[in-house]
Amino acid sequence: MRAVLLNAPGGPEALTVGEVPDPVPGPGELRLRVRSTSVNRLDVWIRNGTYPVPYPHILGADVAGEVESLGPDTTGRFPVGTRVLVYPGLSCGECPACRMGRESFCEKLGLLGRQRWGGYAELLAVPEELCLPLPKELSFDEAAALPVAYTTAEHMLSRAGVRGGEAILVFGATGGVGTALIDRARRRGTRTFAVTSQSSTVSPLRRLGAESVLRFPDLTPWDGGPPLPPLVDAALDSVGRSAFPLALSRLRKGGRYAICGASSGAEAGVDLRLVYSRQLEVIGCFLGDRSDLRTLLEEARHGELHPVLHARYALAEAARAHRELDAPHLGKFLLHP
Ligand SMILES: [Zn+2]
Repeated sequence: MRAVLLNAPGGPEALTVGEVPDPVPGPGELRLRVRSTSVNRLDVWIRNGTYPVPYPHILGADVAGEVESLGPDTTGRFPVGTRVLVYPGLSCGECPACRMGRESFCEKLGLLGRQRWGGYAELLAVPEELCLPLPKELSFDEAAALPVAYTTAEHMLSRAGVRGGEAILVFGATGGVGTALIDRARRRGTRTFAVTSQSSTVSPLRRLGAESVLRFPDLTPWDGGPPLPPLVDAALDSVGRSAFPLALSRLRKGGRYAICGASSGAEAGVDLRLVYSRQLEVIGCFLGDRSDLRTLLEEARHGELHPVLHARYALAEAARAHRELDAPHLGKFLLHP
């Protein structure tokens, strides 16, 4: 099969298209024909060696496709041709967290496209238990936007206890998780203030559900929208270093700060007196559980999901997609094998 191979860590040019033997589905596994896969910031960190992997490696945590063949000992629940979406968390299945359906808290949690080869390929062998049937209301591209970004966003909103009527700040609003947070927060009836440094994304962010779109870092409205209240109930962040002190300074007493990524830098300073005197909560979030993704697919049946898709690329253009991830954009990058 053709696949995007990473033979050594490096820049976008390290991604090259090559031929590898077709994956053979093991016991309990399905082989999928990948129809769409999306690019995540995590892919960049694996590509550049921040997260080392054995080489050659195939990236890709988000996979939507069709069942192409069945390995031994599969249940028959997914006949050949079934459209499926893959939950990307690789968990042990045996620990208390896994038994409670909280796979994201499994101490052995790994990710598709990191601990095993992922979806930047024509075919993917994957455990049947990670596959969820894809409702006809979702295209392969919309589906491929969900597993990492939407599952993480849903998990963040739940972990931060975000409720209707609350005011929230979303940093990194134009990224995959950012747009998913705004979309999902709207469903909860929150007042969402989206933060971005890109003026071109103001209108689409408003349409997606942001009450106001704010400039980074001064947090003033871009377009005459309502100003940020002096203090908010929660801040949701995928940016890290540059957003962290700003986010904490705008939280009300007892406010919650949830973080799922650190695209601007991983180390940040904070006056700890602020954290305890204002009784703030700092909540780390990583992916989410299979049940979160199942909930999202159920809502998709009712037209309740609006994944924002930035651009589609052929598999051979993976290097270009990685390069453009650093340019202004809104939503997810998709690769088509
Ligand atoms: Zn486990």
